[in-house]
Amino acid sequence: MTGDVLGWLRELARLVVPVVCAGCGVPDELCCPRCAALLDGAPRRVETAAPRLDRLDGVPPLPVWALVDYTGAVRHLVVAWKDRGRLDLDRLLAGRLRRAAATVASSVGSVAASSGTVTGRVPGRPPPVLVVPAPSTAAARRVRGREPVRVLAQAVARGLTDAGVPAVVAPVLRRRGRARDQVGLGSRARGRNLAASVAVRSRALERTPRGVCLLVDDVLTTGATVAAAERALDAAGAEVVGALVVAATPPPDTRRLAMRPTSLTLCTDPTRWG
Ligand SMILES: [Zn+2]
Repeated sequence: MTGDVLGWLRELARLVVPVVCAGCGVPDELCCPRCAALLDGAPRRVETAAPRLDRLDGVPPLPVWALVDYTGAVRHLVVAWKDRGRLDLDRLLAGRLRRAAATVASSVGSVAASSGTVTGRVPGRPPPVLVVPAPSTAAARRVRGREPVRVLAQAVARGLTDAGVPAVVAPVLRRRGRARDQVGLGSRARGRNLAASVAVRSRALERTPRGVCLLVDDVLTTGATVAAAERALDAAGAEVVGALVVAATPPPDTRRLAMRPTSLTLCTDPTRWG
């Protein structure tokens, strides 16, 4: 009986507010199986595609793992989740990132273990990995009414713990002051703007066990946010071992390849002939 009533209410809600897939817009699905499957792949390293992570001093960039390219349906899905109130996608994104965290746990865990030994803590029992969500601006928090990246950070901490690497969420970063609007700024100016705007919550960090840090964000574009977060944590004496994101903007050459017509019969633009 209760099930009938719930089913009826669900149908009624569907009539009042039509449900569409957040990725491709197909009706009557929150996220259709095809779009959900885009997030099924194993996480892969993407740091070389993010120009702001290039340290220009010969030191390799911070390892960053992403589930998928930030294009097409994935892009629609993330925007709907983050900025259009599609909280129903929490479960899908968190579930996929939890699984990804379990996959990268061995890389993170080995650094955590060696770090524990180096700093003279109890051998074989390193402190938990600190899963640090990228901070939102106060304006974004006001508009969204929450910090969606914390949902992801929670999932990552669970995934690491699932794989035998103890982890806790540590929201120890904040946006400092009022960052300029990023619109209209070039890549370098955006980097400088962001680097100045991420700071460590010193008291929160002091209260947290001193494990290594794994950053979490929804999307990696230029890498400016991750670079700024790494810099701020490093200055506070915390070791950052990598970052895990849902999606990463593919490098420009791949984007061009993706846009290139696959068959001459499909190409109707004379400027691209020859
Ligand atoms: Zn879809």
